[in-house]
Amino acid sequence: MTSSARPFLNRRLAEFGTTIFAEMSALALRTGSINLGQGFPDTDGPEEVREAAVRALRDGRGNQYPPGPGVPELRAAVAAHQKRRYGLTVDPDTEVLVTAGATEAIAAALLALVEPGDEVIALEPYYDSYAACIAMAGGARVPVTLRPREGRFHLDLDELRDAVTDRTRLLLLNTPHNPTGTVLTRGELAAIAELAVERDLLVVTDEVYEHLVFDDAEHIPLATFPGMRDRTVTISSAGKTFSFTGWKVGWITANGPLVSAVRTAKQYLTYVSAGPFQYAIAEALRLPDSYFDGFRADLHRKRDLLGDGLRAAGFEVYQPQGTYFITTDITPFGEKDAHAFCRALPERCGVVAVPNSVFYDDPDAGRSQVRFTFCKRDDVLHEAADRLHRMAP
Ligand code: GLN
Repeated sequence: MTSSARPFLNRRLAEFGTTIFAEMSALALRTGSINLGQGFPDTDGPEEVREAAVRALRDGRGNQYPPGPGVPELRAAVAAHQKRRYGLTVDPDTEVLVTAGATEAIAAALLALVEPGDEVIALEPYYDSYAACIAMAGGARVPVTLRPREGRFHLDLDELRDAVTDRTRLLLLNTPHNPTGTVLTRGELAAIAELAVERDLLVVTDEVYEHLVFDDAEHIPLATFPGMRDRTVTISSAGKTFSFTGWKVGWITANGPLVSAVRTAKQYLTYVSAGPFQYAIAEALRLPDSYFDGFRADLHRKRDLLGDGLRAAGFEVYQPQGTYFITTDITPFGEKDAHAFCRALPERCGVVAVPNSVFYDDPDAGRSQVRFTFCKRDDVLHEAADRLHRMAP
């Protein structure tokens, strides 16, 4: 936490400080290191999408407050995307809500759906805003830990079932999962759907990495499973899929009453955002399959490039099947404290990474895990791998 915040911060937020992403990006800047910490690409997304934003801006589309639910063009494009990719029918007028990135979607969903004291189950290690937003909503966080086995992280369905109590209001899922790269399988999703129906739970599912799946993994939206259409809030974002993380265009899809509930909270957070960018992302979502396939193939190659480099440098690598992150273990270096390791890494070799320990309730659980992102140019990844190799154990 920054020293100035402590006397003023309320109890709900007392455990939260500066996000690890801000801390590590500042460290990268200060030390001139290669930043494989915060997940943002070092190459902008498609030129035609950037041009579409410029056109919208010049034509005066979106320069004033766009409509609360999002511009109709983007809502229609989101609905068409869900239909084309997953066979899901959503009404663009009542079942889509545009948000200021997935971050606002997560916040608005939790603020709208959680009563103080409700339990919210989240997969651990969890994306840092989940914990903060559950706290802001007055909910109680119940982590279910993904554990490494045979080189990958896995969900234990029994542990998930056992975590549900009479006070559980919702499951906060994330697949593909940041930071572990786990992609929940059809069987796992089916079991989660059954559990949600049986225990009458809502599910908020963060699918921002929906297009970043590798090998034989497949992204299947939870909302497509029996009984889930009316109890699922699906979140996605243009930041990851189109490499424009600074535009902060996200969205939810859900049934009308759920969208309406989330909109009630959202309208008092930002009201609206990113007017001209919404028009550009409407065009992006209509790009042909070749764009999505090419993007995925490119990231797949980068995953292997960085993964090989990390292995050669001596890290234990957990193979991600999705996202643009690789979680590693630093035990082979004789090190145990990921946070200390990450703070020292710029000095040791000019590379910045993120300690996964901050994504756990029990920091001991992820104490020796370090995350690297591979959404960077090949030459940057090569250089980072070389630097890490030079400090090999
Ligand atoms: N989602 C990005 C990551 O995990 C960071 C976004 C942020 O800085 N809030 O690296």
